[in-house]
Amino acid sequence: MRNVYLDYSATTPVKEEVLQEMIPYFTEKFGNPSSLYDKGLESKEAIDTARARIGKLINADPKEIFFTAGGTEADNWAVFGTADKLKEKGNHIITTKIEHHAMLHSCEFLEKQGYEVTYLGIGPDGRISLEELEAAITDKTILISVMMVNNEIGTVQPIKEIAAIAKAHKVLFHTDAVQALGNIPIDVKDLGVDMMSMSSHKIYGPKGEGALYIRKGLRISNYLHGGAQENSRRAGTENLTGIVGFGKAAELADIHFDEHVKHCSELRNYLVERVLNEIPDTHVNGTMDARHPGNANITFKYIEGESILLMLNYLGISVSTGSACSSKSLEPSHVLSALGVPVEMIHGTVRFTVGDFTTKEDIDYVVENLKNIVEKLRMLSPVNAQKGW
Ligand SMILES: *Cc1c(COP(=O)(O)O)cnc(C)c1O
Repeated sequence: MRNVYLDYSATTPVKEEVLQEMIPYFTEKFGNPSSLYDKGLESKEAIDTARARIGKLINADPKEIFFTAGGTEADNWAVFGTADKLKEKGNHIITTKIEHHAMLHSCEFLEKQGYEVTYLGIGPDGRISLEELEAAITDKTILISVMMVNNEIGTVQPIKEIAAIAKAHKVLFHTDAVQALGNIPIDVKDLGVDMMSMSSHKIYGPKGEGALYIRKGLRISNYLHGGAQENSRRAGTENLTGIVGFGKAAELADIHFDEHVKHCSELRNYLVERVLNEIPDTHVNGTMDARHPGNANITFKYIEGESILLMLNYLGISVSTGSACSSKSLEPSHVLSALGVPVEMIHGTVRFTVGDFTTKEDIDYVVENLKNIVEKLRMLSPVNAQKGW
């Protein structure tokens, strides 16, 4: 059976070059980076190389990169570290309804501690309104956090404009760039962001590794306490192999950026075009301009996305419904809800995300099978029989 993986926004395989770079650091080069002898220095140098590679990818000084155990920790640190640091100044945070749960649940936790959070909605294009953002700022606002690229619908936010508004009001600005990294150009200096979250396993690096960019001169409270690692900002013996892998993945993302974007967007557009043309009653959610190059979020009316997912899975095809985190619950996706998609249609939505190892043959295999599956499911669908949609 053919195996077709179309869930690159959930995670990606580690690239061979990345794995090869990591391997020696499991065995012969195992020194603790904090140790003062050569074996320790060798590990410390490997971490510095990785830091420089990630800095280069986003135009940051390596000293502004702080390694974390993934995108989730980076989001948590940015929110909790800012909330604690600025608690005398204010207790108000502005974010959006479409953030990843790493941000939403952190904000909900802070609400229980007495903080106030404004959750901005989005327009039909998936973007927040800059006027609404500016109007939400009060003299108690300490942080604005808006994700760069959404993980479900792939839409891109006007980050530079948001950063300018935050700066004009002297409010810190954080962005979750986990889905953006390697997929849209990022220059932290040009964008003017104060903090930015990244994750390794979404760019062909290992899982459980990430980083928070913190602009030079900005100090937020520490989140993990213990040793003096990461310039005394994030304690704990470094995940050496993870960091080395993340660094290599960042270097490859930088070198192959144009190629990657072209490859993904061509295949994504081919998938969208074929599905919309060959399967009736389908549409794409979110605008096709300013979108993650690999993302296609498609509603198949009158049927359940879960049923499509399971039938595709029988054929060796991996896709997701809504976001990976909510796929085990029947809660309709918070992102599609915010976009104004009716509940019945949310349940008929599938996210396809292509990546570097996807081929045109993969897409043909998926579309041919989708045509049959959708037709069968619609014949069985009571909703369709009643036309009570
Ligand atoms: C995957 C993801 C995260 C979480 O990153 P992990 O490294 O898996 O913890 C956060 N935000 C977004 C937008 C993501 O897609």
